[in-house]
Amino acid sequence: MSFESGLYVVATPIGNLADMSQRAIAVLDAAEIVAVEDSRVTGKLLHHLGLKKKMRRYNDHSSTNDRDSLIAAARDGVVALVSDAGTPLISDPGYKLVRAAREAGVPVYTIPGASAVIAALSISGLPTDRFLFSGFLPNKAKARADALLELAPIKATLVFYESGPRLAASLETISEIYGDRDVAVARELTKKFEEVVTGTAAELAARYAVQDPKGEIVLIIGPPSEDAATADAGDVDAALREALQSMSAAKAAGAIAKKFGLERAALYARATEIKGQ
Ligand code: SAM
Repeated sequence: MSFESGLYVVATPIGNLADMSQRAIAVLDAAEIVAVEDSRVTGKLLHHLGLKKKMRRYNDHSSTNDRDSLIAAARDGVVALVSDAGTPLISDPGYKLVRAAREAGVPVYTIPGASAVIAALSISGLPTDRFLFSGFLPNKAKARADALLELAPIKATLVFYESGPRLAASLETISEIYGDRDVAVARELTKKFEEVVTGTAAELAARYAVQDPKGEIVLIIGPPSEDAATADAGDVDAALREALQSMSAAKAAGAIAKKFGLERAALYARATEIKGQ
């Protein structure tokens, strides 16, 4: 295989090294420079492939000079950009480099391959026709709840990257805001202990509260139901106000959602608004 000069965005495996494509191996072999997130991680991959390459550390905090130097090299030769695992730029560094290369008129090529978001979605059993990937949720509980609240009305499957120690807490918040929507936890994809566990957020929160799951995780929430939201808005509001006299916003939203056959998330947003008045 021969390659034109340019910047090559190269996907690497998310666990199983046999998922490296032939073109990915060939372009790494042809590369004058491999821009890497962590030279130890990519060093192991290159060693496994029997390649010895000049690596240069790169991330989106790298200086403009670092970027310019990679772009200059990509004018006359092959520069490969990889991240620790999966597809660069997908919750990984590379955006600024690709943008700058395009602006400088340097060709940018894709060498596609694994990405945990697509791998998880494709085996989750949840709808794939319309999805929104939102990277990692914020760390702090309030910011996480706000982010989830903002996404709740979107009529699409939602996909997040998540970590084991945070999973149960995230699922609890999801259960409060999203009620009984289908959820899937995809763990350790392409590795020995690959699994997908599905259920409601409450069921999964209870399961993972017992013990934090090990390994890498993708969290998927199915879309809101198509329930005919024919209820009169005034009636719903009145019922919500009444319920809020004796219940928390989450409980009131749940109770009224059930009563009118509506989406709990939207009612939760309205309930918190009423509470704040
Ligand atoms: N760029 C990568 C991609 O395309 O998948 C993602 C990088 S992001 C920094 C790493 C996160 O992806 C992990 O914390 C986890 O949420 C998810 N992830 C990566 N590998 C995974 C795997 N084998 N199984 C499940 N999730 C994985």
